[in-house]
Amino acid sequence: MNDPDTIQQRSSHRIFDIIAQYREQVFYKLSIAGIILILPFAVSNLMKGENLLATFNFLVILILLIDAIYRHFRRKLPIAPAIAFIAIILNISLIIIEINLIGILWIYPTIILMFFVLTRKTANIIGIISIILITGMAYYSEQSIEATTRVLASMLLTVIFVNMIVKIIVELQNKLRDSSIIDELTQAYNRRYLNDALENAIARLKRYDNNISLILLDIDHFKKINDTFGHSAGDHVLKELVQVIWGTLRTIDMVFRMGGEEFIILLPETALSNATRVAEKLRLKIQEKPIFNSTKVTISAGVIQLDKSESIDELMKRVDELLYKAKNSGRNRICSGSESGVNAN
Ligand code: GH3
Ligand code: MG
Ligand code: MG
Repeated sequence: MNDPDTIQQRSSHRIFDIIAQYREQVFYKLSIAGIILILPFAVSNLMKGENLLATFNFLVILILLIDAIYRHFRRKLPIAPAIAFIAIILNISLIIIEINLIGILWIYPTIILMFFVLTRKTANIIGIISIILITGMAYYSEQSIEATTRVLASMLLTVIFVNMIVKIIVELQNKLRDSSIIDELTQAYNRRYLNDALENAIARLKRYDNNISLILLDIDHFKKINDTFGHSAGDHVLKELVQVIWGTLRTIDMVFRMGGEEFIILLPETALSNATRVAEKLRLKIQEKPIFNSTKVTISAGVIQLDKSESIDELMKRVDELLYKAKNSGRNRICSGSESGVNAN
């Protein structure tokens, strides 16, 4: 259960499109640079009588200018950036036909920038269309198989390369995100993330009035395990414990390491009686499993059902008292709360 894929599936807040928040910013800067770069060519083409090319140049400048002005005033872009890229690519095709293959030089930065402005899917679609189009234009312009093959290969390589870069950026960002919410030793969620998850659970509870329960569990006499077998044996027990918990829970349940040998399990769509059953099942499973050599480990736990009128501090206090009660009643037991007070199992 502890393979990286499982861990990834368990992190519900994965970022698939990290570049999204930078897109408009990149496009804005690109628009300004584009206008400054294309303008001299547009004027020069006009003066040379290359009217079709000059018209296309001015069209691209106009699209970029309109979007840049709207973006400057933080307004919704009136022209989709994909349209701007299509116009640029058509413009490049025209340069290849009207002037010569040297126009191809513009396509490489255009493809790369496109992946930082459009979604990866759209960028790939326009990328493939432009490979076909530009390769065709290159053949039309040069009538040389050799030159056309080079155009095709270099454009393909650019698309593959930029896909790899974007993939690496997204993966690194996901790793960074995971490391901020996942406990490194056990791969359970960390305490910092618990607060977000609890706030989220309480908000859902207020809105849908559903059942959400919480188990606070603590390993019994864990200090003795450390003292007897060493700290790394203790670490091993912690990791094994989380494996057992994951093996028992549904995928929608979440496990958090509170610190030390104390864990919280959040059980959405679960009433107190079922949560108590889950805790009891866990207690038995852990007690039966020789986690380290032949050493038996036991746990004590408090179980509560969340109340929508309760704050995080209040519910934590309530479940903590139940755990304390389980410990005081001899350990290796579950104490579950009820609305009217506390029941010991
Ligand atoms: P109780 O039954 O009352 O819970 O007793 P306990 O010994 O489990 O609890 P206590 O709070 O006295 O000791 C917890 C121990 O957990 C002490 C600390 O050294 C150990 N501990 C905390 N974090 C880690 C860790 O990451 N790895 C290991 N191996 N030990 C840890
Ligand atoms: Mg303990
Ligand atoms: Mg403890």
